[in-house]
Amino acid sequence: MNIGIVGLGLIGGSLGLDLRRLGHQVLGVSRQEQTCHQAIDLGIADHTSTNLSLLAEAQVVFICTPIAVIAPTVEKLIPDLSAEVVLTDVGSVKQAVVEQVAPLWPNFIGGHPMAGTAESGIEAAQPNLFAGNSYVLTPVETTPASALQIVEEIVRSLTTKVYICTPEDHDQAVAWISHLPVMVSNSLIDACLSETEPSISLLSQKLASSGFRDTSRVGGGNPELGVMMARYNQRQLLRSLVSYRQSLEQLIETLEKEDWQTLEKRLQLAQLRRPEFFT
Ligand code: NAP
Repeated sequence: MNIGIVGLGLIGGSLGLDLRRLGHQVLGVSRQEQTCHQAIDLGIADHTSTNLSLLAEAQVVFICTPIAVIAPTVEKLIPDLSAEVVLTDVGSVKQAVVEQVAPLWPNFIGGHPMAGTAESGIEAAQPNLFAGNSYVLTPVETTPASALQIVEEIVRSLTTKVYICTPEDHDQAVAWISHLPVMVSNSLIDACLSETEPSISLLSQKLASSGFRDTSRVGGGNPELGVMMARYNQRQLLRSLVSYRQSLEQLIETLEKEDWQTLEKRLQLAQLRRPEFFT
């Protein structure tokens, strides 16, 4: 199959590596000449261009740009496409993207690979990034069954676990398990940085180990990605954050009351139920 990829960064580049390994012909479009050359050298694409017209030969196109430019990219791409071309995207939020893109190109299905690293750009691309991870597809009423089937087949071939749900359900679910953790982890770093005693601040930095590394990782990552999450998933993220604030307030109250029994029950419940998120 001829598969187009627009945006040869971490996700687009990693997709290119895997799709070529599976025998597809990959057509990659980047904004920069240098990235086009790198994509060929790294084995990410068979043909590259800075011009979207390269994708006239594609049967399926993955839009792998930042969320804010997914719809504008589709608008620019449309003059080069024939009606049977299936478009999909990899954006981390779905409702805003699907609402913008589906009216522009009916043969579109929103998607989100639940995989990534803290790095970005073409150098960060790696093979098998998606293997064993979830890949969400979010059809709406107007999505042709054939578009869903074609993209589902491609992403399944990357040995992903495919989940199909509405864009709204996707956004609320990722608000809980992806966007809320980023904000909470950010608040954790922010609170630690608020220590006013310089010697304590320095000592805490020296003593920080694996626990702090784990809990601060997602909050200390790419700021652009965090802003995108908040901006494009604001309502669902706020709903989750308000619930988190209530939970934190209950925790503070429990400690103030020295209610160690309630604290222990809460910690026991978390220990018991945490595995439910990793089945
Ligand atoms: P990235 O490594 O920064 O790659 C994005 C690529 O998009 C850039 O390398 C660039 O490619 C292109 N691009 C950047 N700004 C652009 C602009 N203004 N106009 C047109 N193209 C532009 O980011 P990424 O992590 O791959 O994220 C890409 C998409 O995947 C986002 O929509 C994100 O929500 C989603 N996603 C990310 C993760 C993650 O963990 N990082 C996970 C799942 C989904 P060229 O230089 O080739 O043009």
